Amino acid sequence: VIAAIAGGVGAARLLRGMVRVVPTGQLTAIVNTADDTVFHGLHVSPDLDTVTYTVAEAIDPVRGWGLAGETWRAMEHLNRFAAFGATTWFNLGDADLATHLFRTDRLRQGATLTEVSADIAAAFTLPLHLLPMSNDPVATMVMTPEGELPFQEYFVGRHHDIDVSGVRFEGIETATPAPGVIDAIEQAETVVICPSNPIVSIGPVIGVTGVRESLTKRRDDVIAVSPIIGGAALKGPADRMLRGLGLESSALGVARWYADFVGTLVIDTIDAALADGVRALGLRCIVTDTIMTTPERAAELSATILNAHA
Ligand code: GDP
Ligand code: CA
Repeated sequence: VIAAIAGGVGAARLLRGMVRVVPTGQLTAIVNTADDTVFHGLHVSPDLDTVTYTVAEAIDPVRGWGLAGETWRAMEHLNRFAAFGATTWFNLGDADLATHLFRTDRLRQGATLTEVSADIAAAFTLPLHLLPMSNDPVATMVMTPEGELPFQEYFVGRHHDIDVSGVRFEGIETATPAPGVIDAIEQAETVVICPSNPIVSIGPVIGVTGVRESLTKRRDDVIAVSPIIGGAALKGPADRMLRGLGLESSALGVARWYADFVGTLVIDTIDAALADGVRALGLRCIVTDTIMTTPERAAELSATILNAHA
């Protein structure tokens, strides 16, 4: 059994490959929910949906979020209400709305996010177990020169084009792991930390009560893939965020940040010169191609990860 700790796009790409090399039902993804928020009265879980849609081969390949072949009629019509306070900067496609209607309705009826996520995963016939990190609300807040912003206002509203000097996860102190999270980590042969934003995607999952401790106990079996390649993120603000928090934006910076709960770091061939530095921190280091341009490449990377550890 394999457990994977996941954010959005980077994680989803790896998981799309991982399901090709891990037998059905033997993979559990533990997904960040600190990006979750309410828009248009609907419970939005960006990272859960990115993982679901990507592994289901239903993601829009150009946007990298939402469903392929999407239409936007509901959002176009929402513009009519813009002058009356409607939120018009956060888009949900017409088909995507169905996922959000279902999730919101179920939550309102008293289902947990764990239950709803399992149903959504089943409806998309995902060959993995999909777990939110917690059923308790956790909200990422980022400190910027304009003050503190909720994560989606920073990421979508401001196109993450503003400096970040600090991050906090509201609610994290009292958030308990969702049922199955700690068991998945304790029982997995290998725990994979996906190549996701180390601060705002992996950070909240690690911050949920008990998760960091259970990883630290299994450190030898925890293997992370660096989301930073050649000093930069492939997409998104991970590199700028690391620098904003006073950390180094490199695979070595990631190694330092993860050193106490990760035993092995996978870095890209481009970063081969950093391998000795990673090893000097007490981690094993694997150097391989980590840019997942196709599902086949993601499957190869997954096989490398799992073989390295076997
Ligand atoms: P978000 O929640 O959708 O913003 O995404 P994540 O937190 O999961 O991922 C953002 C990180 O994924 C960025 O730092 C990217 O560099 C990294 N990433 C995306 N695709 C790949 C890939 O193919 N390989 C590697 N190594 N990292 C990737
Ligand atoms: Ca995310």
